[in-house]
Amino acid sequence: MGIHQNLVAGEWVDGADAAPNINPSDTNDVVGEYAMASREQVADAVAAARSAGPAWRRTTTQARSDILFKIGSELFERRDELGELLAREEGKTRAEATGEVGRASQIFRFFGGETVRLGGERLPSVRPGIDVTIGREPVGVIGIITPWNFPIAIPAWKIAPALAFGNTVVFKPSELTCASAWALADIIRRAGVPAGVFNLVMGTGPVVGQAIVDGVDAVTFTGSVATGRKIVGAAAARMIHVQAEMGGKNPLVVLDDADFDVAVDCAVDGSFYQTGQRCTASSRLIVQEGIHDRFVDVVAERLGRLTIDHALKSGTQVGPVVDGRQLDQDMSYIDLGDREGARKVVSGQRLNRETPGFYLSPTLFADTTNDMRINREEIFGPVASVIRVKSYDEALAVANDTEFGLSAGIVTTSRKHASHFEANAEAGLTMVNLPTAGLDYHVPFGGRKASSYGPREQGRYAAEFYTIVKTSYAG
Ligand code: NAD
Repeated sequence: MGIHQNLVAGEWVDGADAAPNINPSDTNDVVGEYAMASREQVADAVAAARSAGPAWRRTTTQARSDILFKIGSELFERRDELGELLAREEGKTRAEATGEVGRASQIFRFFGGETVRLGGERLPSVRPGIDVTIGREPVGVIGIITPWNFPIAIPAWKIAPALAFGNTVVFKPSELTCASAWALADIIRRAGVPAGVFNLVMGTGPVVGQAIVDGVDAVTFTGSVATGRKIVGAAAARMIHVQAEMGGKNPLVVLDDADFDVAVDCAVDGSFYQTGQRCTASSRLIVQEGIHDRFVDVVAERLGRLTIDHALKSGTQVGPVVDGRQLDQDMSYIDLGDREGARKVVSGQRLNRETPGFYLSPTLFADTTNDMRINREEIFGPVASVIRVKSYDEALAVANDTEFGLSAGIVTTSRKHASHFEANAEAGLTMVNLPTAGLDYHVPFGGRKASSYGPREQGRYAAEFYTIVKTSYAG
């Protein structure tokens, strides 16, 4: 099997090293070998992106739009094949993975439209005989650093607006999910993006990620809070633009007046689908006392019926955890919950399946309090806690008592409580009678507090990060 190379200045090039990409559903299955770039290679990629910038920003918006539509079309046509590849390297189910490729395709097409729609403003000056115009310009070389849990959608929602608005790109995917990234890079290159405009450098965070932050004009990052903090600090020291989307400890409030089936569906889907590995997963289920016991019983019963197996097997509802390190982290938090005195209603176990993989059944803790570490720290696995509350007011206070603020949901038939929650939940996203995860591609996405730093991503709000405003006066 050949090594999948980095893309630098329009050429496929070897890295300093290479690493295998292992299928978490079957650790005997090597998805491929992927080049790992050196710091010098990242510097070459940044230099290539810098020299390609002036010509790229002068291309017509129509030319850029055509390229983005071409990328979106190929992703759509190949969604089944690329979905299978994604499921194989990341472990989400075939349906989840194919849906994600479809999402990436929609994002490229959306920004194909935004390219030609980007406009400015013309205002009267407060002084006589002067025109004032406000326009948007590309920022320059954008460094893109992404996590493993949405290996094609997150790169898409960063690369598409970067290219749409005339920037050039140096992209580093997570070292766990290089296959989807490499396939996307190949599509972008063949769609007619000029050499140097888009560069792929695979490798580890401390080497390749750090070298990107040291060289580019702006950096957009999605990943954990710990890494985000480092990147935001390094970017601030260089005084470059930075955007960071990070973790969550998202609450789902269930009130006594909730439609019971909707509440159970929201909890099972939001907390456990995609193996709980979503930044918007609901890890804290805040449940009012009147509905509490029945809710816990029925959610537990539903979890017992979930089919956990190989991501590509038909009938699988939950795939494996992404790798051994994440599995160890999940197991250590399950032990911690025991030590903190939480009641394990459904006990997560390592599972054996036909193929060796990182299989873990769901864990549901009850009788937890919001000050337990399992309710304060992001676990990022199929683990959720129930917190019992007396009233809506207490539920809202608990929901907001967290360092995070990404997504917050409520299940209720009370219009009054739903609209009060929308207005008072300290989160970037609110969900009424819906799971905390599950988003549209044409509207802004992002959080508050430690979940997010800098401008919003996606939709037309993406222009806030990927362009710089210029105000021009003419006499
Ligand atoms: P991570 O922080 O470990 O890694 C993210 C990326 O940063 C990877 O590409 C990694 O190689 C790189 N990196 C690591 N150290 C670096 C450094 N010192 N300098 C530069 N780059 C570095 O996160 P992960 O484990 O890949 O992803 C899971 C996390 O992502 C979870 O916390 C999850 O909540 C978060 N996430 C957030 C969102 C969101 O939009 N808010 C979406 C998906 C995932």
